[in-house]
This record gives sequence, C-alpha cells and structure tokens, in this order.
Amino acid sequence: MFTCRNQSCGAKWDVSEVDIHNEGQGLLFRCPMCGARNYVEAVTQKDGALVYKQARD
Ligand SMILES: [Zn+2]
Repeated sequence: MFTCRNQSCGAKWDVSEVDIHNEGQGLLFRCPMCGARNYVEAVTQKDGALVYKQARD
C-alpha cells in the first residue's frame, strides 16, 4: 500500500491502482485523487521479483 504524501489528501493506493513512471527525477506515481507526486523506489527481492516501496523523503 502507498499513502499519498499530501497530508490533506492521505489517500491509500494499491500498486495496481497507480501508474508508476519516471518523469526524469526518479520513479513516481501521481495520486489519482489529488495529483501529488509520490516518489517510489524499485527494490529487487531475493527471488528476483521487483517490488515498489514508497520513498520516505
Ligand atoms: Zn493525494
């Protein structure tokens, strides 16, 4: 689950509900509710699966 970093929004999204892409400054998704940029990191697990984690910044 991701949580929109816009505190007045705070919507929660599953990875399947957002469009993760790169606008030139790293991977992010735009909150479908408010449009805020939410940065994510791609992490490769031991089994080779790629998962996305919300960046803390
Ligand atoms: Zn939002």
